Amino acid sequence: MSGSGNGPGSPTSPPQSSGVRVVKPTIGSEAAQEAAHRRRNSDSKSSHKCSLCGRGLTAKHNLDNHINSHYGIKKYRCPYCDQASGTRHVLKRHALKKHPGQPI
Ligand SMILES: [Zn+2]
Ligand SMILES: [Zn+2]
Repeated sequence: MSGSGNGPGSPTSPPQSSGVRVVKPTIGSEAAQEAAHRRRNSDSKSSHKCSLCGRGLTAKHNLDNHINSHYGIKKYRCPYCDQASGTRHVLKRHALKKHPGQPI
């Protein structure tokens, strides 16, 4: 038999890259479930809840700082300049940067 099938001269099409496949997330039960799961997770971790915005904080002092930030209360004031902050470590960082060598 002669001339059967693919000869050496036939053009070969390049292999199609089939790796790209966009999977659309299903809007509805799955997303809602994930959101609920996430909320439950954060609840168990952060037991201190902000009464103003509902955000959960992991520690009491974090909640205090967070509530202070709502009111714009800056109770930690830099003794060397006008800088003030609601959290001590932020002010400490400021002092280390702006007033190196000064105790705070
Ligand atoms: Zn809040
Ligand atoms: Zn300062």
